[in-house]
Amino acid sequence: MHIITLDIEEWYFEKTFHNGRAEQYALFDRTLDKCLQALSDVKITATFFCIGQMAVHFPEVIKKIQECGHEIGCHSNVHKWLDKMTPDECREDTRIAVDSLEQCIGKKVKSYRAPAFSITDKNPWAFEILVENGIERDASGFPASRDFGGFPEFGTDKPAIVTRNGISIREFPVCPINILGRKVVYSGGGYFRFFPKFYIRHKMHHQDYVMMYFHISDLAALKEKFLTCKEYESYYKEPGTLLRRCKRYFKDNFAFGNTLDKFCSVIHYGRFHNLSMANISIDWKKSQCVRL
Ligand SMILES: [Zn+2]
Repeated sequence: MHIITLDIEEWYFEKTFHNGRAEQYALFDRTLDKCLQALSDVKITATFFCIGQMAVHFPEVIKKIQECGHEIGCHSNVHKWLDKMTPDECREDTRIAVDSLEQCIGKKVKSYRAPAFSITDKNPWAFEILVENGIERDASGFPASRDFGGFPEFGTDKPAIVTRNGISIREFPVCPINILGRKVVYSGGGYFRFFPKFYIRHKMHHQDYVMMYFHISDLAALKEKFLTCKEYESYYKEPGTLLRRCKRYFKDNFAFGNTLDKFCSVIHYGRFHNLSMANISIDWKKSQCVRL
């Protein structure tokens, strides 16, 4: 099973952190249009995880995605990481985000992905909050190490049922591969940009479950700037040493090329579903149960 997802947040970041430059909005709009056209050409509907504030400030973007037949999921309200929030803050953030998105699209939102895969072994209570807010399936599981977020001890890299304190939720984690004993996720982010197409195709054909994830900033080949200490600390909530800022700059800008072209090729490599369709075709009785 191949699943395709995109996270939608860039317009809001532009408005909040860069004063809303018209040329950047135009770049995001253009990139989204190309992406929607490419998906339509191969008759794929994806899940687009959108932040709640996109629905408030850029409802036309969300509506355009919905009108193309894609599933709208929730990606938090302002992209604040769940592992940096208290349970009460997370509850409020999720409630506002889901409400805003549902008002915008006029239907229930049932799928969720945490910003930066920030449901970890430190905040499994987040699953309870998702269920309280009507979320039935989650795609925040990242069963490998990463700089921020990630859940290496999650226990499976296949769709699973997470249970905790009497609630249950269907989980669609990302799907790492092993390279020299290290778990690497090639189906999105920096490694997707780095690996050549033939390698991605080869890996996809050898995995029976693949979760692809993209950002508009990746597809637009948007260069990230070198952060000041203050900017780094305000976003990452840790000391912004020079070494950390250099590392972040390198990772954010690593292997940028024509990712949109690669995206347009890769969507021909499998039979992709969105989360809502995948949810129906999985025999959940046979899937693993992860107790947290
Ligand atoms: Zn995001």
